Amino acid sequence: MNQPTKDVLVIGGGQSALAVGYYLRKTNLNYVILDQASQTGGSWPHYWESLRLFSPAQWSSLPGVLMPGGSDYYPSRDDTIRYLEAYEVRYQLPIVRAVMVTEILQRGNEFIVTSSQGEYRSRAIISATGSFQKPYIPDMPGLAEFRGTILHSAQYQTAKLFRGQRVLVVGEGNSGAQILAEVSQVANTTWVTLKEPEFLPDDISGRDLFDYASAAYRAKKDGESYTPPSLGNIVMVPSVQQARQRGVYRSVRPFSEFTTVGVRWPDGKEEAVDTVIFSTGFRPALDHLQPLGVVETDGKVTTHGTKAAKKDGLWLVGYGNWTGFASATLIGVGRSAKQTVSEVTAYLR
Ligand code: FAD
Repeated sequence: MNQPTKDVLVIGGGQSALAVGYYLRKTNLNYVILDQASQTGGSWPHYWESLRLFSPAQWSSLPGVLMPGGSDYYPSRDDTIRYLEAYEVRYQLPIVRAVMVTEILQRGNEFIVTSSQGEYRSRAIISATGSFQKPYIPDMPGLAEFRGTILHSAQYQTAKLFRGQRVLVVGEGNSGAQILAEVSQVANTTWVTLKEPEFLPDDISGRDLFDYASAAYRAKKDGESYTPPSLGNIVMVPSVQQARQRGVYRSVRPFSEFTTVGVRWPDGKEEAVDTVIFSTGFRPALDHLQPLGVVETDGKVTTHGTKAAKKDGLWLVGYGNWTGFASATLIGVGRSAKQTVSEVTAYLR
C-alpha cells in the first residue's frame, strides 16, 4: 500500500522516536512514526527481568511528563515500559507498528522508504532505530565450533537458566557487571575483561553521572575546562555492591580461542565451559540507511549535531553522544529531539 508523501517519517518507535514525536506534534508538520516492533517500548521489553534504571524516576523522563516515583525510586524495566506506553497514549503519537523499514532511497527531493508494509514517501527522515537490533560479539577463533551456549546480553533474561553451570561473562561494562552479579549466585562464574574493570565510588548514582555529564557539556559549550569523573566506569547499583561483597569481581584477561567444549586460556590450558555471555555492546542499527551512502566504515553516520553531514533531509536521534549529548538516555534524548525538530521545521519551511 503506497501512502501520500509525508513531511517527515520517523523510523523507530522507542524512547527516541517518542521524544521526537512529542516535539513534532507541536508543529504543523504531517508525520508518521514507523516501528518494526509490535509492542511499545523499543528495546525495553527485551532487557533482563531484574533491570533497574541507573537514575531515579525524576531524572529518567522524556519531555513533557515525569516518570512516576520521585527522586528516591529507581524504576524497573517494567515501570519504564508502562511509562512509555502511557506516554504514547497521552500524546496520541501516530505510530504504525510492525513496519520494518528495509531501505531508504532519495529521488529528487523525496525519500522513498521501502518497508515490510509497502512504500512510504517523505520530504525528511528522522532515524531513531537505536542499537539493540545489532548486538556485537567479537569474532573469536573457534566460536563456530563451540558446542556450548553463546549468549549476548541482549538475549539475557534471568540467571536461573544457568544454575549449576560453568559460565564466562565477557565484558567490563555495566551490563557485564550486573549480569555477573546475578549469575554468580547460581553458577560457577569467571569475568573475562580486556582490562581491569573500574568502578565508580559507591555514592555516585546515575543521576550524579547525568549532572557531571551536563556540567561537562555546558563547560565545553562555554569554552571552559572541566574534568568529570570517568563516566564509563561501572555504577555501584545495589546488586553490584552486594556482588562486590561476595568477592565475585575478580577478572581475567580473554581466552585465546574457543574449543568444541570450552575455551583455551593464554597459558595453553583448556577448560570446559557451558555458557559464555557476551556483554560486549551494540552497534547502531542503520542498515536501512545503507542505500543513501551515508553509513561510514565504523557503522556510524557523520553528523553535525543530529543532522547527517552528507545528506540533506536526514537526521539521526538517540544513538549515543555522536548524535547529541546523552542522547541514548531517557533524560538526555529530549534535548536532541527538540533541536532536531526545530532544524527539520526550518528545513521544510
Ligand atoms: P530502542 O529502544 O532500541 O528503539 C528502537 C526502535 O526502533 C525499536 O522499537 C525497533 O524495533 C525499531 N527499529 C529498529 N530498526 C528498525 C527499522 N529498520 N524499521 C523500523 N523500526 C526499526 N537509559 C537510561 O536512560 N537509563 C538507564 O538506566 C538505562 N539502562 C540501560 C540498561 C541497559 C542494559 C541497556 C542496554 C540500555 C540502557 N539504557 C538506559 C539505554 C536505553 O535503554 C537505550 O539507549 C534506549 O532504549 C534507546 O532508545 P531508542 O529509542 O533510541 O532505541
